[in-house]
Amino acid sequence: MSDTFKALLIEKTDDGQSVSEKELTLDDLMDGDVVVKVSHSTVNYKDGLALTGAAPIARSLPMIPGIDLVGIVESSTHEGIKPGDAVIQNGFGLSETHYGAYAGKARVKGEWLVPLPSKFTPAQAMAIGTAGYTAMLCVMDLEDAGVTPDQGPILVTGAAGGVGSVAIALLTKLGFEVHAATGRPEETDYLKSLGATEIVAREDLSGKPRALGKERWAGAVDVAGSNVLANVIGQIKYGGAVAACGLAAGMDLPASVAPFILRGIRLLGVDSVMCPKAKRLRAWARLAEDLDTDKLDAMTETIGFNDLKDVAPKILAGQVRGRLVVEI
Ligand code: NDP
Repeated sequence: MSDTFKALLIEKTDDGQSVSEKELTLDDLMDGDVVVKVSHSTVNYKDGLALTGAAPIARSLPMIPGIDLVGIVESSTHEGIKPGDAVIQNGFGLSETHYGAYAGKARVKGEWLVPLPSKFTPAQAMAIGTAGYTAMLCVMDLEDAGVTPDQGPILVTGAAGGVGSVAIALLTKLGFEVHAATGRPEETDYLKSLGATEIVAREDLSGKPRALGKERWAGAVDVAGSNVLANVIGQIKYGGAVAACGLAAGMDLPASVAPFILRGIRLLGVDSVMCPKAKRLRAWARLAEDLDTDKLDAMTETIGFNDLKDVAPKILAGQVRGRLVVEI
């Protein structure tokens, strides 16, 4: 019999779902051409949704949750990937259609993997995780849209969360003036330590959206959606852009076309899950270049496998600051 390893498994029950620890073998895993011994994972907002069942992240059950993994390749028939390689996977169906990261081992497709950049330890790669890699995608999209530091400040919403914290650190390093929108004024010192120069109260952006407001920011990274995103769009300077990646405030977007047709504002949708490999590699290369690891370490807390179920409702309630690393 092959060796067993522990895994968290979401299973269907009469009244929804249950999450419990199981002992599995390689035979229990899904198809793939690379087996990875998982050393670390993380908890993103989406992991909170999957673990609590607050949204149907898993398309079928049973499912091993966890959208991010880092580890060492144990066996591989994929060209270019060999045993001993350190690899990362972000998304690409993990925890949705393919067994995910909260397990001692994962069998995945080699085309989903990116090499661990030498600048980062495995734990730091998961401190970045999907949240940090998405923050990088947002920043790259703003750059590609022509937003530059001389055009004015950038707003980051959900600033004390995972995407928000990494976005502030990246934008500051790139020379932008960063304003941080948060519902946690008690995190002001934390946000300023990451580089934010001004704190915007979340409630200033949560009310009924105005089609056009004062032009305040050259660009924005938005994790909130709903009224927050609509209010942000209405306060972007002429020709600016907003990278929208999240739904922490809601899936809707009660916005006006006025900012688009009168101020030429661009709304940039950001998806990390199916993002093509070439762009992923570019994002990880940019993270290695532009993310200050001292700031990354300062925004990160490490938890154990057994803490996963307790922490899931906390991330949905906006009570987790920065990033979490899970030791598998
Ligand atoms: P976190 O929970 O770490 O951060 C979310 C932050 O949003 C909270 O910390 C809080 O920040 C803020 N927030 C919470 N509730 C509200 C609300 N009602 N209105 C406005 N702001 C709120 O999550 P992540 O950083 O991991 O993810 C953020 C969002 O981005 C999620 O919606 C997630 O699903 C999405 N996402 C999307 C990806 C993609 O591929 N498109 C990839 C990664 C994430 P504060 O306390 O500072 O206000």
